[in-house]
Amino acid sequence: MIKHITENNCFGCFACESICPKSAIKIDSKTGFYKPDVDSSLCIECGLCLNICPKEQNEKNGIDNQVAYAIKHKEKSVLNESTSGGAFSSIANRVIEMNGVVYGCITSRNEVRHTRTESDYSEMRGSKYVQSNLSDIHNQIANDLKNGRMVLFTGTPCQCSSMKKFVKQKNLPEDMLLLVDFICHGTPSPKIFSDYISYCESKAEKNIKKHLFRPKINGWTKHTEANVLTDGTVDYQSYESQMYKSIFHSHLAMNETCFSCPFASVERVSDVTMADFWGVQKSHPEFFDNRGLSFALANTKKGRDFVLGCMDIDITEVSVDDVDQPQLHRPCSKPDGYEKFWSVYNKRGFSYVVKKYYHGGWLYRKLSDLYHKLKIRKNHE
Ligand SMILES: Cc1cc2nc3c(=O)[nH]c(=O)nc-3n(C[C@H](O)[C@H](O)[C@H](O)COP(=O)(O)OP(=O)(O)OC[C@H]3O[C@@H](n4cnc5c(N)ncnc54)[C@H](O)[C@@H]3O)c2cc1C
Ligand code: SF4
Ligand code: SF4
Ligand code: SF4
Repeated sequence: MIKHITENNCFGCFACESICPKSAIKIDSKTGFYKPDVDSSLCIECGLCLNICPKEQNEKNGIDNQVAYAIKHKEKSVLNESTSGGAFSSIANRVIEMNGVVYGCITSRNEVRHTRTESDYSEMRGSKYVQSNLSDIHNQIANDLKNGRMVLFTGTPCQCSSMKKFVKQKNLPEDMLLLVDFICHGTPSPKIFSDYISYCESKAEKNIKKHLFRPKINGWTKHTEANVLTDGTVDYQSYESQMYKSIFHSHLAMNETCFSCPFASVERVSDVTMADFWGVQKSHPEFFDNRGLSFALANTKKGRDFVLGCMDIDITEVSVDDVDQPQLHRPCSKPDGYEKFWSVYNKRGFSYVVKKYYHGGWLYRKLSDLYHKLKIRKNHE
């Protein structure tokens, strides 16, 4: 059974839970990340969970027919709501026009999870820098494929690998599944994200509707964050509202599996890989637009046909070497003190971790609040 894999880390993809015929596997985030918990009294040693696990084996596409593009959505509002250049929205729109269904990631208050839609995919726009909950998504995709629907699944490379393996193993029509991943820096803990939201709520004494991970308030290249409150106001000025990006970039809250990610490579598991077109100022200064620009790699013929069929984007062929993306070549690095961080967090809780790792002193916080207020005001003048 799957237990030995979880001991060696796990992508938290939910495939094993979906395939177990005895419902012996339950995934939870008690440890900080989604991981299976196996009830051995129910297990019949059928081995299905081991066979499906993408940690064991994953199939990448070759790079012979790979084509790289710069993509920018033509509609201003879509570009503004997307993290990069809106490549996702254009592909999703095309799939829905073809009577297909779209699976992607949404957020509400303290949770990040995948969901299905046949029409409005706007909530899926924007990166959520948290490991996403994929509970029941494999089975829903299986149903759609059985019913002859075209399916777009968007997610991390490990999630795409999981979906690809699941569909193949279940003998479902692979040609009806379009996999779109992104160059992936890694996913932080859903437990820490939930604690972060509660922490912000207690500081603000207000409830949060959702966290915006990278709204373009200060343009595409500046990583600004915001908390949308239930009373309708948006907080992008307090120290706490800007703190999650420090948690993300410190790598301390990242899934340990991400530091040895097998997908941090030019060879991809998906049909299309999306990314921010970092480095465009150097390679193609004429394309730069601070409203956002996507870099996209079409890895298969299916992927290329889809991208080239999108009518609501400006698109130009570029070279894969034009983009500055470390995680296209190697996984992100494990920071010193990773184990210590988790031991402190598990013993003392989130508020303590904030004070120890992410809190400047009182003066720093006050100056930071003032800086954000002035910056935002300047941008709105
Ligand atoms: C955890 C994470 C790490 C990333 N690391 C990098 C990186 O190192 N370099 C880089 O260039 N780009 C990275 N990205 C991707 C990038 O931020 C954009 O999401 C991507 O370029 C698509 O932008 P877009 O404008 O086309 O679409 P958007 O409208 O921004 O669409 C976002 C897409 O991402 C999916 N998604 C959002 N959050 C998650 C999540 N938590 N889990 C699974 N799927 C999710 C949605 O379903 C949707 O398809 C990362 C994204 C995430 C979520
Ligand atoms: S071996 Fe079979 S029954 Fe046991 S946990 Fe895995 S899938 Fe379930
Ligand atoms: S990687 Fe996926 S299939 Fe493998 S143990 Fe983890 S959740 Fe289960
Ligand atoms: S870095 Fe690799 S292992 Fe981590 S979420 Fe991304 S694809 Fe999965």
